[in-house]
Amino acid sequence: CGIVGYVGPAGPSNRPLEVAMEGLARLEYRGYDSAGVALVTPEGLAAAKRAGKLANLRGALEEDPLPPATAAIGHTRWATHGPPTDLNAHPHLSEDGRLAVIHNGIIENFVTLKAELVAAGVTFTSQTDTEVVAHLLARSYAENGDLTAAMLAVTRRLEGAFTLLAVHADAPGTVVGARLNSPLVVGLGDGENFLGSDVAAFISYTQEALELGQDQVVTITADDVRVVDGEGAPVEPRRFTVDWDA
Ligand code: GLU
Repeated sequence: CGIVGYVGPAGPSNRPLEVAMEGLARLEYRGYDSAGVALVTPEGLAAAKRAGKLANLRGALEEDPLPPATAAIGHTRWATHGPPTDLNAHPHLSEDGRLAVIHNGIIENFVTLKAELVAAGVTFTSQTDTEVVAHLLARSYAENGDLTAAMLAVTRRLEGAFTLLAVHADAPGTVVGARLNSPLVVGLGDGENFLGSDVAAFISYTQEALELGQDQVVTITADDVRVVDGEGAPVEPRRFTVDWDA
């Protein structure tokens, strides 16, 4: 239901986690039934997710603090496939735990894709439509070693309306996003960049933004934003200033 992504400097204060949690709080107005975050840390991915209010996720993070990260993704869920449980909350991870994905919307053809993955020996841990994307991305990444290329290859196979963000432990300073019939905006910072399902996700930090078009894939690092169309050709997104007193 709500999505936030961040890449920026690592540090003991764990700004990536702080930005993700602030973004999720800003997105609460949209309504949700679960929340979760995934961090890319030098030791690999770290994730926490809980059904219920953000307070439940905050409690889990206090009990079991996550290590400082270079990138973070955060999600508030409005369940469409699978009841609101801790396991069905996002992020969803690949089997090796090195890739995490969050998703707004619905993957209409997930039953077919899931059957294909199960036949290939993949074990599913949730009842969501989203989890197929984690496994498909991991398999594509294993082939081409590039998260943007993997996102392009996988989104070609997906039907429905969705926004997706993914991180991989091997790409510690990168978040990749994609949108089809569902919104995704980029927030431009100074030595840091943001992604959000709407500008509320990053309005506490920047008012400079890029609007992504249909069927585009975006890759953010701390100092760079690259947008390509569904064929992988570079595109120049529209830049705007958020006219809103946060
Ligand atoms: N269809 C996904 C699920 O049920 C995502 C729902 C959402 O947009 O939050 O988990």
